[in-house]
Amino acid sequence: MNFSNSKVLVRVDFNVPLDAQYNITDDTRIEAAIPTLKMLLEKNNALIIMSHLGRPQKQKNDDGSINANKFTLEHIVGRLSTLLSTPVQFAKDTIGEDAIAKVEELSAGEVLVLENTRFHKEEAAGEEQFASQLAKMADVYVNDAFGTAHRAHASTATVAKFFSKDKKAFGLLMKKELENAEKVINNPARPFTAIVGGAKVSDKILLIKELLNKVDNIIIGGGMAYTFMKAKGGTIGTSLVELDKLNLANELLSIAKEKGVNFYLPKDSIIADSFNKDANTKMCDSDKIDENWMGLDIGEVARKEFAGVVETSKTILWNGPMGVFEMEPFSGGTSAIAHAVAYATKKGAFSLIGGGDSVAAINQSGLNDQVSFISTGGGAMLEYLEGKELPGVAAILND
Ligand code: AMP
Repeated sequence: MNFSNSKVLVRVDFNVPLDAQYNITDDTRIEAAIPTLKMLLEKNNALIIMSHLGRPQKQKNDDGSINANKFTLEHIVGRLSTLLSTPVQFAKDTIGEDAIAKVEELSAGEVLVLENTRFHKEEAAGEEQFASQLAKMADVYVNDAFGTAHRAHASTATVAKFFSKDKKAFGLLMKKELENAEKVINNPARPFTAIVGGAKVSDKILLIKELLNKVDNIIIGGGMAYTFMKAKGGTIGTSLVELDKLNLANELLSIAKEKGVNFYLPKDSIIADSFNKDANTKMCDSDKIDENWMGLDIGEVARKEFAGVVETSKTILWNGPMGVFEMEPFSGGTSAIAHAVAYATKKGAFSLIGGGDSVAAINQSGLNDQVSFISTGGGAMLEYLEGKELPGVAAILND
């Protein structure tokens, strides 16, 4: 990002949660982009900022028009201005008259936010004409939106085609995310342990397959563990299961064996008689769950075994909770793992938390400052770790 005195088109991820009055309820994503924006401003550039907010094409007004009240990026302008300690202008459109006029007038050190890129359906289609209109506004393109780097959209990927290699760059957040992912992907310190949890195996098949080429240990928790239990011939009551994935589960188990990867499933579970925080609960072996009972968290034996593996690891990747951590009676397993990850990190391990629910879980445990890196991009990080090329990354690296 060696640009100075230029008009810089910066793609950020300002897709923040808003309450019913359109107040920002969590500004983590805006804060994450501030170092890049400040650095560009210090170099005397003029900033043209673009982002999406929500899904305006999916939630239109009854007459088919865009719900601009709800999805306008104007909602974030005040907070951005406070965090940057500088005035921020707003264009009422993305590539229209107002945007063009304001970009024309924009001077060094000034900041302009364009209206939500997703007001145009051409954005998600990655349309060239729309991307070229965006590109025309600036001399340089910077992509700092790691959270949307797995989408081949106009403002995240196509637009980069219109800038030569020396006129486009990653922002600092993007750089940090990629560097931390690389630490796990390339030459990780060993033992390398992956903890994979969450609801369904089907969402994490590619991740588990890819990880089996890299890790020494894989720990499976959450709802997906019961598909493995069932595949191994266990009785799982009414636990979450994907019956069409039983063969796949066995296949993953035999790949692990072939490759010498230790595959840990929870030996015991906390089971409940309904999916409810006030349900009756008891502890039992995960492969002997009573009829009409369901496994909603890993049990004491599993917690001890998993924590032992995690605490002796040198690289740890965690994606997905160990149980229904949103309900207090079933949050203990996830919390135990969070503590083990923090303990290993304190002893010198590198720990990466990737994925939306694991981030919420580590925050819930209050240990977010005791792990090495928490990714801001759930889906993007997952795809990167699955070994896929991210369009937003490739577009900067390619001509
Ligand atoms: P994912 O988005 O795939 O990471 O899944 C996260 C969700 O899985 C969370 O909302 C958890 O409540 C849910 N989950 C975790 N363990 C279980 C379980 N044993 N049974 C049902 N849902 C679960």
